Amino acid sequence: MSAREVSPPHVVNVAAGVAAVGTLSGVGPAFGALLARLGLEQVQDLWFHLPLRYEDKTRISAIADLRAGEPAQVEGIVEAVERGFRHRPQLKVTVVDASGQTLLLRFFHFNRAQAEQMREGTRVLCYGDVRHGLHGLEMVHPHYRRLSGNDPVVVDEALSPVYPTTDGLGQKRLAGVIDKALALLPAASALELIPAGLYEEHGLPSLREALLCVHRPPADVPLDQLMQGKHPAQRRLAFEELLAHHLSLRRLRASVRRHRAPPLAANGALESRLLGSLSFELTAAQQRVRREVAADLAQSVPMLRLVQGDVGSGKTVVAALAALAAVEAGRQVALVAPTELLAEQHLRSFRHWLQPLGIEVEWLAGKVTGKARQHALARLAAGAPVVIGTHALMQEGVVFAQLGLVIVDEQHRFGVQQRLALRDKGAGRADGLVPHQLVLTATPIPRTLAMSAYADLDISSIDALPPGRTPVQTVAISNTRRDEVIDRIHAACGDGRQVYWVCTVIEESEQLRAQAAEVAYAELCAALKGFAVGLIHGRMKPKQKQAVMDAFKAGELSVLVATTVIEVGVDVPNASLMVIENSERLGLAQLHQLRGRVGRGAVASNCVLLYQPPLGQLARERLAVMRETGDGFRIAEKDLQLRGPGEVLGTRQTGDLAFRMADLARDADLLPVVQHVGERMLSDHPRQAGQLIERWIGAASRYAQA
Ligand code: ADP
Ligand code: MG
Repeated sequence: MSAREVSPPHVVNVAAGVAAVGTLSGVGPAFGALLARLGLEQVQDLWFHLPLRYEDKTRISAIADLRAGEPAQVEGIVEAVERGFRHRPQLKVTVVDASGQTLLLRFFHFNRAQAEQMREGTRVLCYGDVRHGLHGLEMVHPHYRRLSGNDPVVVDEALSPVYPTTDGLGQKRLAGVIDKALALLPAASALELIPAGLYEEHGLPSLREALLCVHRPPADVPLDQLMQGKHPAQRRLAFEELLAHHLSLRRLRASVRRHRAPPLAANGALESRLLGSLSFELTAAQQRVRREVAADLAQSVPMLRLVQGDVGSGKTVVAALAALAAVEAGRQVALVAPTELLAEQHLRSFRHWLQPLGIEVEWLAGKVTGKARQHALARLAAGAPVVIGTHALMQEGVVFAQLGLVIVDEQHRFGVQQRLALRDKGAGRADGLVPHQLVLTATPIPRTLAMSAYADLDISSIDALPPGRTPVQTVAISNTRRDEVIDRIHAACGDGRQVYWVCTVIEESEQLRAQAAEVAYAELCAALKGFAVGLIHGRMKPKQKQAVMDAFKAGELSVLVATTVIEVGVDVPNASLMVIENSERLGLAQLHQLRGRVGRGAVASNCVLLYQPPLGQLARERLAVMRETGDGFRIAEKDLQLRGPGEVLGTRQTGDLAFRMADLARDADLLPVVQHVGERMLSDHPRQAGQLIERWIGAASRYAQA
């Protein structure tokens, strides 16, 4: 779902606002049905149907000044008209203007009347995106209008809004009905949910003013500001929207925290035994986070805590210690991971640590079926202390005797709803207690996002890596120099080091991905005679995968060719070279995760980002960031800038954070204000807070009652 497809906000009960759109003149049943398709049913829905962007038809550009990639308005005379039929019907109109340069207008859909109107000598005014064509600059399907004689051109006085719309509903008609709705906007005070003092002190206009301005920008509005979404009117709306999201997460948190949870205050006997058995000491950062978690667990209010820590920072052992607190208190623990491979890795770590303490660890993944599944379910229902698995744990039919702690790894891949589903597995038991929730994420969350997207969680950071890790040297190398890379692998293997070769082909099926990995595997086997090369991909049986991983871990394989299945959870300290093929296709977060597989031991590690030239702008920037830094927080900040929060947050975003006006990267400076005002609204104006959530989030705010 794109940010603009969110259902329209519901608005306060202002008489004019709740009237059906059908009460506006000119809106009959057919028009009404088109509007309904956009979710526009009441007059107020039209008030909040905000422009996606603006077109600047306030000036005319000389063709000589046009730049590809930028929209422009041009006035000129038709110099030539050509109708082509070769591949599909096409109308090509060459226009020349006073600058003496020509521009090609290209139409693929046109009717006979349109074609006949375009003759040599016709004067036209057109607006569209300029792009490079085969023979110079062109516009495809520009908006255009014929001009008669020598009349002076009248340009628009103000920017024209472009609204989200639907088939069969043109911009003009939509703008017309929005005009009618705007005429019914009530006085500022009747529309406002946020007390005036709370937005005025931040230099933001009233909601009424803001709405009028974004829908119908006045002629004297600073154009650039509006085009970039930085006008105070836009900021006011973004602010209100961010506030609504913030409030809904806060309300979600409050509703969870109204329940009671079992206090898991252990005397620490099990934990001491685990700590005593480890081959390392916890870092200061791990100890701090462990204390924060333990303090929460001891409460009878459900913990809602996110532990963030870069790849390799040692989150698993902190989770295991929390699990032991629950087990010691006689409660069950469920750990959920987003992929089977990652879940298996946790299973091994937990079994390795917990079995010597006499604690069995259950396994439940999608592939566990039939009798094995029945038995696992029976043991969970009977109170088995610890279970590890995938989303299969969240399905119906999984019932716990007394779930006390839910641990979710790599949370950004799960939605809030899924997290709630698991929590509910512990609710409704005889004692009415709900489990504590611990969320682990290796995607460092920029502070700005944490304050908004994670307002329902307390956050702990494991902000230092265990000692003895060496930073990974990263280089980007063109695929044309593949031979050099193979030489490097040869040298590394010769030194007894191990190598990952990651195939990142984006294929539509697991089968095609596996095939691509097999091709690379064959190539490397041929090129690296004398060294053992292994292959792992998602189509292999878990047993096969395990055998390959074990062989690599044991040092029997020098090179492991893998699809991105190794992204998370694989831990082989002797692997010190990673080659990522087609690295230009991956996002920063994924590259960072992959690279985290090397640099785990004391040897200096290297990462080669192989890319297929030519590089696009975005890919170039991403690879530059990867070369410059290994700091997950910096990478996440950069990722946020380059891709926007949708991508950074993954699943969580799609359900909960689809913004109509706000842009977390652009509006980040508003977030502290949002937090502050949110505080005030919750304490002093709770009813308006609820209405604000309704207005902007509507149906999605149902989570908030969960
Ligand atoms: P992540 O935070 O990425 O999940 P892990 O929990 O998998 O990291 O830990 C990565 C590796 O570091 C594991 O092999 C783990 O046993 C080890 N480790 C964890 N804590 C420490 C520590 N304090 N000192 C040394 N090694 C540690
Ligand atoms: Mg981990």
